[in-house]
Amino acid sequence: MTEARVLEGIAPEVTLQELFASQGADYSRRAPRQEMVDLNLRLLEEAKELIRPVVIWQEVKVMGAGERELYLENAPTLKGQLLPKVLGSADRVILFAMTIGDVIDQRVKNYINKGQTLEAFILDSAGSVMMAKAATTMMTEIEGTYKAKNLSTTFPLGPGHSYWKGLEDVRSIISFLKGERIGISLTASNLMLPKKSIAMVMGIGSNLPDFGGKTHCDFCHLKGSCTMRNLGSDNC
Ligand code: SF4
Repeated sequence: MTEARVLEGIAPEVTLQELFASQGADYSRRAPRQEMVDLNLRLLEEAKELIRPVVIWQEVKVMGAGERELYLENAPTLKGQLLPKVLGSADRVILFAMTIGDVIDQRVKNYINKGQTLEAFILDSAGSVMMAKAATTMMTEIEGTYKAKNLSTTFPLGPGHSYWKGLEDVRSIISFLKGERIGISLTASNLMLPKKSIAMVMGIGSNLPDFGGKTHCDFCHLKGSCTMRNLGSDNC
């Protein structure tokens, strides 16, 4: 088992169109009002100044799989219906957690407290897009290190989705990685704080199943209505 590694990222570029898409806004028939464009651009810049993407990840050997279980060496057993199918033949998995920090959450709260709910909504959605895009960049970077060694990787999976119900494995992953090293803590009901945080698992190996380009979104009940998926982001 390797040591956990910490990697800091930079705020990703997000377009106005991506920000509108994340809000579920459809401006294909009529253009948004100029004041709405200006407000979104201002809050996008504000979000960029407030976020600090940081990831912690660690490789763990896969010891075997059960019907719903993935057994790991010196790490908690993970339990989700899709795990054996995607990760059962992996040699190792990467346990991965990422956050963009809590400063943006606090600023969103400030806007709410001042009654500026539109600003709060836009800033929160800007944080969500930046979180998803930063996660994609960092995952791609990590995948690249394995491709360079002629190893394949699976698509990432995250607990709390319809294919991996419950949040118990969020606790397993965050506790194992010592999420506090990058500022992630857990509530009693296993929600991550800061709110813009993710926990995921990705398989590594030379004999992985071929899912023909599918991602975990293809197994998620929200795939038909998810605004993040429309962004082309699959690291929610
Ligand atoms: S469809 Fe949306 S909620 Fe579901 S896994 Fe994909 S990005 Fe996440």
